[in-house]
Amino acid sequence: MNPTITIIGAGISGLTAGLHLHRQGFSVKIIEASDRAGGRIKTDSIDGFKLDRGFQVLLTSYPEAKMLLDYEALQLKTFLPGATVLYDGGQFEIADPFRRPSALLATVFAPVGSLKDKLNTFLLKQKLVSKSIEGIFMQEQKSSLEQLKNYGFSSKMINRFFKPFFSGIFLENNLSTPNRMFDFVMKMFSEGDAAIPALGMEEIPKQLASQLPADSFLYNTKVVDIRENTIFTDTGAEIKSDIIIVATEANNLISKLKNNVETQHHSVTNVYFQTKIVPSNKAVVILNASESKKVVNNLTVMTNVSKAYAPAGKVLISISCNGILDLYEQELVQKIKNELQPWFGKQVEEWSHLKTYKIKYALPNLKVLKDDLTIDDMKIKDNLYCCGDHLLNGSINAAMKSGRLVADLIIAENRQNYIEKN
Ligand SMILES: Cc1cc2nc3c(=O)[nH]c(=O)nc-3n(C[C@H](O)[C@H](O)[C@H](O)COP(=O)(O)OP(=O)(O)OC[C@H]3O[C@@H](n4cnc5c(N)ncnc54)[C@H](O)[C@@H]3O)c2cc1C
Repeated sequence: MNPTITIIGAGISGLTAGLHLHRQGFSVKIIEASDRAGGRIKTDSIDGFKLDRGFQVLLTSYPEAKMLLDYEALQLKTFLPGATVLYDGGQFEIADPFRRPSALLATVFAPVGSLKDKLNTFLLKQKLVSKSIEGIFMQEQKSSLEQLKNYGFSSKMINRFFKPFFSGIFLENNLSTPNRMFDFVMKMFSEGDAAIPALGMEEIPKQLASQLPADSFLYNTKVVDIRENTIFTDTGAEIKSDIIIVATEANNLISKLKNNVETQHHSVTNVYFQTKIVPSNKAVVILNASESKKVVNNLTVMTNVSKAYAPAGKVLISISCNGILDLYEQELVQKIKNELQPWFGKQVEEWSHLKTYKIKYALPNLKVLKDDLTIDDMKIKDNLYCCGDHLLNGSINAAMKSGRLVADLIIAENRQNYIEKN
């Protein structure tokens, strides 16, 4: 008989591990502290608006996502490649001329960088397309900023495009995130689209969770300790399990069980507005590259990407500010409006605040970024394992990969035990 398996945490990594094990005939239970599956990928429905908890996208070229998800069922809505950049003196578009030829002219004359920079961008993309993900994660680590300088980009190109664009992805403003992540993300952007499911990012974990029996989940239950084969919860329950997988973010629980867990993280403040007049018609991310930038890193008109994010006739704007902004809500709202007024004019005063999310643990801030795991990374001791993006890098792809690898390890060990016993 297969052993019982309990997973702590119903984020993408826990769901992925659970799904792989379930498909191999294991009975899996998932204990989750919050009210539903999804972890850091959740979408709240408020007054007919879909509010993702933090602006995030699925890169369709993620190898793990391609293997696991049914993209068609998710009804993916894609962003146009490139971005709109706000700078002191105006705004312009930057696009990948090879995926979006119509924008070539605007890109060539955009006040973002020299022709050399644009050629460099193209050459870099070509280089990364032919480089393997394994190769990218084996390269010597330096900061992404250093990498960009080594690639020969001008400071204008870095400040007006790469900094605001990647600050919104890394959720830090200095491009101190290791170059491995920069190259990986650039490669993914070159090989596919940035997309969101029509009904919100939470459709991704929902699709995974729906393939597990409904009684696999125990929600609103926080695990406070694990000793030998017993799981202790905040509801006072003691649950026995042959095998336990800790699929939480890098928090107190995993730190108590495993040595050297990196708990550093990046935070983000995400503010939503609704309005009637659309500030931009494009399905792109709008970057704030102004030298006097204070709070806003980037904004997106979500309804330009998926109309279903708002009731008919309404426009939904998502604004990301890196870090946790310790301001009263109305103060933050006014700061955002003041900051964006030079580009969007008086219409910002009509923007009506919907909700603010302050997300403390958004991405793990790891010293070393990886794309593969050893047994020691995943196995804490006999019958106790872990997975999660904090073992590899902060991405949906990494969360899925860690979940798949830990499931494969358990399946392989279980087969070996069966052979030895028989
Ligand atoms: C704002 C933001 C923007 C992002 N942008 C992108 C992006 O654009 N593209 C991309 O690829 N990735 C992005 N990410 C990262 C991506 O969302 C994560 O890498 C991924 O969701 C992590 O999944 P996980 O399973 O490792 O962890 P989590 O999603 O954190 O799941 C852990 C789960 O464990 C539960 N848990 C914790 N402790 C306990 C306990 N003691 N008992 C029971 N349950 C517990 C938690 O409630 C949670 O549900 C972003 C993340 C955020 C927050």
